[in-house]
Amino acid sequence: MITKQEWIEKDLKYVWHPDTQMKQYEGSDFKPVIIEKGEGIYLYDTDGNKYIDGVSSWWVNTLGHSNPKLNKVLTEQAQKIEHVLLADFTHKPAIELAQKLVELAGEPFSKVFYSDDGSTAVEVALKMAYQYWYQKGRAEKRYFVSMTDSYHGDTLGSVSVGGIDIYKKIFNPLVFETLKVCAPYCYRCPKNKQQGCCNIECICEIEELFKERHNEIAAMIVEPLVQGAAGMRMYPAQYLTRLRKLCDKYDILLIDDEVAMAFGRTGKYFAFEHAGIKPDIFCVAKGITAGYIPLAATITTDKIYNTFYDDFSALKTFYHGHSFTGNPIACAVAIENLKIMREEKIIENLQPKIIKLKQCLEQFENLKHVGDVRQTGMIGAIEMVKDKNTKEPYPFVERTGHKVFKEALKNGAILRPIGNVIYFMPPLIIKNEEIEKLTKIAYNAIKTVTEMN
Ligand SMILES: *Cc1c(COP(=O)(O)O)cnc(C)c1O
Repeated sequence: MITKQEWIEKDLKYVWHPDTQMKQYEGSDFKPVIIEKGEGIYLYDTDGNKYIDGVSSWWVNTLGHSNPKLNKVLTEQAQKIEHVLLADFTHKPAIELAQKLVELAGEPFSKVFYSDDGSTAVEVALKMAYQYWYQKGRAEKRYFVSMTDSYHGDTLGSVSVGGIDIYKKIFNPLVFETLKVCAPYCYRCPKNKQQGCCNIECICEIEELFKERHNEIAAMIVEPLVQGAAGMRMYPAQYLTRLRKLCDKYDILLIDDEVAMAFGRTGKYFAFEHAGIKPDIFCVAKGITAGYIPLAATITTDKIYNTFYDDFSALKTFYHGHSFTGNPIACAVAIENLKIMREEKIIENLQPKIIKLKQCLEQFENLKHVGDVRQTGMIGAIEMVKDKNTKEPYPFVERTGHKVFKEALKNGAILRPIGNVIYFMPPLIIKNEEIEKLTKIAYNAIKTVTEMN
């Protein structure tokens, strides 16, 4: 039998982990945790230790791990057809899911373009938006506007519209030029306004940019309500409402990257619902299969689609397609996800949990090194600071967040942080008492790391 020790040695010998400085494991007690099984909101390692999956395995899981209903559909679909190309061929799961997504998103959405993950869904959106203008005879509209500290994926097109240095800086010579506007980061307001009492003054900068350069701008891409990878930075829905108006006024497409936020995280199916707006194109991935297997979709309207629809000789085909476009197993799981969400009233049942999370977050305000506590729907975030008065952050290299993560792990919760931000994004099926437990573990871990040393 291979011992746990040997599995870890093999892992470190063969596997290059994502977003990970592999040298950190050298000579350290801390090694990758080998997860053997999952059930509901819990993950179990090979020693039988049980952890609350507080970050939904990187924001994907919504209905719990190894969900019996999803498992059933997954295996049943594999018995029928596991994969088939989606050009000149189709299958019932892809058709049914596309119809359901369009109906769920409502007017004016009408078309679903499948791909594999969040990054590809964004690539599709960017290319679709550019080709749209190109085919309207406006090829000069070639710039994308995005926010500082935005995150839209790790492929080069999505990195181009991204704004986080650690993901982007090295690749600056390779990415295409984009236009950046200051993100609405309310805790460190770019306009020095008091949180919660402003008129969204930060949006004026966008208006100035649009006014000056709208003839060259194809689209603005945003993460709705929460800038996830930036550290769960949150901004009010009215910002999106105002942005939609500006995009209309200056004839600029609005691309809504709902990869992390869709399917319940914010308390609604789609985050744009909070703002009462409809984007021109939106991207979904992560939670579309309840976090089960990779699948993504870029969803748009006839306004966009019709500019591609022409005789073959007109050369307006959208030449984009991935090997696993619209994979039947993934589509079947996604259909079942939507069915469970409807039948088990997942969204309706979230509302008391959102209130519970709010109550549980209050205790963090008193901690000496907690600068900001914020929440959007089922996402809660705690920003730790070295100095509460000056908001001075902990230095990046100190890895304060990672220390909290290790402490919480010992106590049964997975809270993989972003820099100095500890956040909760549990599977939506979490119960109130489990929210209490998860936040308590985090509270104690933050206190231990920031106050006892
Ligand atoms: C995770 C994420 C992506 C990238 O998705 P992948 O599936 O990791 O490629 C894109 N946009 C947002 C907002 C995300 O959170």
